[in-house]
Amino acid sequence: MDTPFNLTKLLRANIQNLVPYSSARDEFKGEASVLIDANENAFGSPLAHNYNRYPDPLQHQVKHKLSQIKGVPAANIFLGNGSDEAIDILFRAFCRPGVDNVVLVPPTYGMYEVSANINDVAYRKVNLTATYQLDLPAIADAIDEHTKLIFICSPNNPTGNSINRQDIETILNNFEGLVVVDEAYINFSQTKSFTHELVEYPNLVVLQTLSKAWGLAALRLGMAFASTEIIAVFNKIKPPYNINQATQDIVLEALENIDQVNSWIKQTVEEREKLVQELDKLEMVQHITPSDANFILVKMNDPRGVYEYLVGNGIIVRDRSKVELCEGCLRITVGTPQENQLLLEKLTTINS
Ligand SMILES: *Cc1c(COP(=O)(O)O)cnc(C)c1O
Repeated sequence: MDTPFNLTKLLRANIQNLVPYSSARDEFKGEASVLIDANENAFGSPLAHNYNRYPDPLQHQVKHKLSQIKGVPAANIFLGNGSDEAIDILFRAFCRPGVDNVVLVPPTYGMYEVSANINDVAYRKVNLTATYQLDLPAIADAIDEHTKLIFICSPNNPTGNSINRQDIETILNNFEGLVVVDEAYINFSQTKSFTHELVEYPNLVVLQTLSKAWGLAALRLGMAFASTEIIAVFNKIKPPYNINQATQDIVLEALENIDQVNSWIKQTVEEREKLVQELDKLEMVQHITPSDANFILVKMNDPRGVYEYLVGNGIIVRDRSKVELCEGCLRITVGTPQENQLLLEKLTTINS
């Protein structure tokens, strides 16, 4: 980079000058026998478990455990109500509505565009190449002095492939805004996570989630990994109690069961490869994008016909056939061995 990375320059002035909300738990953090400072119900909750006290705003216990699992210091972790909250906070912290812009590289996760629209922030789309990789010259052309964020999803949704690491590093080295690498599917990939590059790249934000491999989509827990300076920005503008106590309790319990999760990941990857092998034999299948995720993008002769036939048999896949660069494609999530077998049976006997 020509100039050293300057986070303050990127930040919106209203956020820079913001005095954050100060909760009762911010003002008194120690142990005490009588807590009558937060207008809580001192008697308890009408439940077996007590939820009458406000939760830890910074989720120290959960972050401590995640820090051990991920090998990233707790001070470099932000927890959000899903990754979607982290995405929204990035827009609110760094992008002035009607002034700044972000770069998106479709086909990719739809939430970046929705969040841009909600925040009235312009986006510049630079399509991935035919092999679903970054078009670096076109990205360089799209960036101007008002470009604050670039979103790169790797492994990418809905294509399933990983983005070339060197290309992401080229952007990290040359872009003066923040590079957001969304690793929602990293557990299914052999590629190395960018969470280990936070010291090297002050403009890096890595997103992960408990919604996919960890099997906790209903709890809504997303993670952002970044420099302590960027994490401080997240903490400054998040709602004070964005992760509720029930989620913190249940996640702590779930994080003890890493062996179960690793075994599911291994099975999912095995099933993915079996599914690819079997689908490839079918007449109707034109192409399958090599996947590093828990789903595959399959190009079909008659995607809509196949989609509706499967719906008629109680099997729902995602029709992406109208998405630019995904023409003709269905996105199929890897299920249990029984579910995958049923899918293959139905597809094999489609005309009989
Ligand atoms: C599913 C998914 C997420 C997860 O979002 P949550 O809000 O954490 O459930 C994030 N990014 C991508 C690319 C996804 O596909």
